Amino acid sequence: MNLDRRSLLTGSLLLAAPNLRAATRDGPPIVVVGAGAAGLAAADTLRRAGHAFALIEARDRIGGRAFTDRSLGADCAFDAGAQYIHWAERNPWAPIAKAAGSRIAVDGTWARTLLIDGRPATDAERASRRAGFSGLDALLTPNGADRSIAEAAAIGGPEAVQAAGGLARLSLGEEPERVSVADYDRLWSGADLWVDGYGALVASHFASLPVALGTIAEGIDWSGQGVRIATNKGPLEAAAVILTVPVGVLGAGTIRFAPALPEAVEGALQGLGMGAYTKVALRLDPARFDLRAVGDAVTAARSDGADQTIYFEMAPFDRPLAIANLGGDGARELCTAGEATAVAAMTDRLAGILGNTAREAVTGGRLAGWWTDPFARGAYSVARPGHADAREALRRPIADRVFLAGEALGDGGAMTVGGATLDGERAARAVLRVLGS
Ligand SMILES: Cc1cc2nc3c(=O)[nH]c(=O)nc-3n(C[C@H](O)[C@H](O)[C@H](O)COP(=O)(O)OP(=O)(O)OC[C@H]3O[C@@H](n4cnc5c(N)ncnc54)[C@H](O)[C@@H]3O)c2cc1C
Repeated sequence: MNLDRRSLLTGSLLLAAPNLRAATRDGPPIVVVGAGAAGLAAADTLRRAGHAFALIEARDRIGGRAFTDRSLGADCAFDAGAQYIHWAERNPWAPIAKAAGSRIAVDGTWARTLLIDGRPATDAERASRRAGFSGLDALLTPNGADRSIAEAAAIGGPEAVQAAGGLARLSLGEEPERVSVADYDRLWSGADLWVDGYGALVASHFASLPVALGTIAEGIDWSGQGVRIATNKGPLEAAAVILTVPVGVLGAGTIRFAPALPEAVEGALQGLGMGAYTKVALRLDPARFDLRAVGDAVTAARSDGADQTIYFEMAPFDRPLAIANLGGDGARELCTAGEATAVAAMTDRLAGILGNTAREAVTGGRLAGWWTDPFARGAYSVARPGHADAREALRRPIADRVFLAGEALGDGGAMTVGGATLDGERAARAVLRVLGS
């Protein structure tokens, strides 16, 4: 039997029928909910094992939070979500990107400028920031009981506190008071490769997988022997479900569980929040303003802390774009305010740095507002202080038929595409083991 073909047929036909009962000759398939990196990797693992599966996805595209947005024009594609292959030495996406011939830039080679109150930072200000960051690594270890990054940094004085705030907001998307230092300490480190089109790479790598798009899981009934998944297109019967929706979606309660999730799972979910790392891409007319002339990146900070620190990428991969990056509560406010306000606010910040010529050259903008996106509800998972074990708790199968997966469960690879991918594969192998396949 051609197993690939069987998986394909299961995936594409079950949702075409009026009654979406996903039964195959060999019994119900495994249903994978969510076609981000974790769900795609899980489905691919099932396909390789020859097990029937159905992969459903709420959006009209695959990739989830790995998404290359082309809506500002083909010449202005940018990654609205993931862009770096972190810990590249062991990340499965590093060899995939190289084999695919992706354009890659390596961190450490960029010309960066630090502006404070709109002017270049003085030597003393730069030295103070360097001092804050240099001692931070040693401070951000649990050293006994878990606590927040803010608390751990406080021992290092004001410079360390400021550095911890920048790190928490601009790499984790969260306020430093709400991040567990023990969880942070567990995250893998290594080289960062900046891929031109990480989202497009993920989508093309898994393009041959059959996916039922526009299919929203609304309920999961695991009271019987298998699992019944209610979707906006009708119910699906499954032997087991691999649920890869972000923990923000699980926490929001938009998927009803019957019976309710076990207390241990609910408790673990409460220990994980979603950070609000946010990007606003501004398109500038290259005939009116040459962004390449102002260096690769500009960090714009305020000495009085009145405005949020923004990290602007200038002309990434030579595109006429300035991409504002921000995180934490300021980013949440911007997402809630909506695209027009966010684009106007970031245009103001850019003009504050580069002058009104830059403002006049702006011809469009996009807010990648993951915080208000109903299928993401944030950028990526953040463990709250005292909840560093929440990720592991979620990895335990529920009644051997509901398996959670995704970046939030990704061990040291949490918060990343690589971690989500590895975790999707882990969950698929766990299901296959339980089903004896
Ligand atoms: C702004 C930003 C920058 C980032 N930068 C990086 C980076 O540089 N490097 C890096 O490695 N990672 C980065 N990340 C994180 C990375 O994108 C994620 O960790 C990873 O993509 C998560 O994959 P996942 O499969 O776990 O979840 P997702 O990609 O979110 O996939 C889950 C899927 O489930 C779908 N879904 C949700 N609800 C339902 C439902 N009810 N029914 C059906 N489907 C549903 C969603 O639409 C989605 O497609 C970034 C994320 C953001 C937002």
